[in-house]
Amino acid sequence: MTWTPEELLRHTSGKVRERAQTLLGDVSHRSCEGQTYRARVQGSRRAPYRVQIDLQTGAVRCSCPDEYNAICKHAAATLWVLAENPESFEAAPEPRRLPRLRGWTDADVERLLERLHDLYPDTVDDWARQRVQTLEEEEWG
Ligand SMILES: [Zn+2]
Repeated sequence: MTWTPEELLRHTSGKVRERAQTLLGDVSHRSCEGQTYRARVQGSRRAPYRVQIDLQTGAVRCSCPDEYNAICKHAAATLWVLAENPESFEAAPEPRRLPRLRGWTDADVERLLERLHDLYPDTVDDWARQRVQTLEEEEWG
């Protein structure tokens, strides 16, 4: 059995829901992976709180220090946004599994670097440039 955001919201107090209403515009970094939905909610601290909702199990987590409410206002705000606008939670990219390091051939490493370059072209370019520079300095230094 899976849960709907509306069902989970019914487990919150009126006060939490009232507070959550003021946070709807602060629910960002929305993503989903299967039945797990994640978002960040800007709270009173500088760093936003991380909310995770698993509709499969009904488990709701938030990184805020609210231990009094099983579902805090940040999670309630996320549930609300999820109920009203589920498409705004973009599917997170499939985690890519790396091959085991033992027994790697040069071709395996090359393929890995190519794949990393596809994913993070700027980072890999910068890293390669610095590495070449270091090698040149060592050679001529
Ligand atoms: Zn919270």
